[in-house]
Amino acid sequence: MPEALLGKDVADLRELLGSGERPYRARQLYHALYRQPAREIEEITTLPAGLRRELAERYCVGWPRIEQRFDSVDGTRRYLLRLADGRTVEAVYMPEQVRHTFCISTQVGCPAGCKFCLTALMGLERNLSAGEIVGQVLVLAHDNRLELGRDRVNIVMMGMGEPLLNLDNVLKASRLLMDPDGVGISPRRVTLSTVGITPKIVELGQAEVRPKLAVSLNASSQEQRLRLMPVARKYPLDELLEVCRTYPLRPWERLTFEYVLLKGANDSEADARAVVRLLARIKCKVNLIALNPGPGIPFETPEPERVLAFQRILRRSMPCFIRKPRGRDIYAACGQLRRMSVEAAA
Ligand code: SAH
Repeated sequence: MPEALLGKDVADLRELLGSGERPYRARQLYHALYRQPAREIEEITTLPAGLRRELAERYCVGWPRIEQRFDSVDGTRRYLLRLADGRTVEAVYMPEQVRHTFCISTQVGCPAGCKFCLTALMGLERNLSAGEIVGQVLVLAHDNRLELGRDRVNIVMMGMGEPLLNLDNVLKASRLLMDPDGVGISPRRVTLSTVGITPKIVELGQAEVRPKLAVSLNASSQEQRLRLMPVARKYPLDELLEVCRTYPLRPWERLTFEYVLLKGANDSEADARAVVRLLARIKCKVNLIALNPGPGIPFETPEPERVLAFQRILRRSMPCFIRKPRGRDIYAACGQLRRMSVEAAA
């Protein structure tokens, strides 16, 4: 199987080309991979034909293949993408008026085991490489005729997987995505969401180039969180919040907390008031997500009035938004990514 070029940075490419090649060839190749962006080595016409041929003997560009695409009535598109080893992941395109959002995966499956999430039912199959993470962005842009250097897009690493359990590859992918000479997406437009792996949050904060941080809070106490998210045992809520309080935010940045509302489990007004207290000293905003239901998920979606009441209480103390469900009809919404075909879901 030829090795993928996607995922390599300039230093990697320089090494790969060897000392026999002129140094600027690595830059040309880098530009072709992330900026052009080329899908096949033959398309990299800035390189001499001989070099292209040589490269093609051992390497491929390595875009994931679109296996299936599901189009929602609201314009959302869910992609089932096939990787070089035959495994598949999902990514979601959400068009908006001014800015489009790509939701991408960081692992095949997920080990976190959250009780309300469909991806959890798969377990973890493997980590994605940096190239496979970047590849999702390039494929979605191409399929939706968007030019990444020009059109405004948000990237959210909120698809399948727990990004902080694949931090090295996620950070490398982030550097490639945010490099002005690479894919060229602004650091303000890339966000990673975590279940709250505290030591990895600290590590992320130390990275020079990094996405913005969103934390899935999902509960108003340690006890409640433990019932919903098994990771809370190893990474208790008080430690998580302490790490959030001391997180080195950039001047323009605030933390995002996500909160999945589950009917009767974490959606009371007392829960809302407790969340206000928990987040009191953190520069943050909260995104509320009413549960997107799924087969085998033992929770129900709260009534819209509940969600609004919860929001009203938080709003007195911090910005708080309700995340609009996108693509529920095609199983593309938060917590619904499980490589399901629409037929299987019905
Ligand atoms: N593992 C990371 C990245 C996935 S982000 C994380 O958990 O943060 C997915 C977001 O959707 C998380 O905030 C998660 O709490 C939320 N979510 C999971 N299942 C959901 C469901 N069934 N309905 C609504 N939101 C869900």
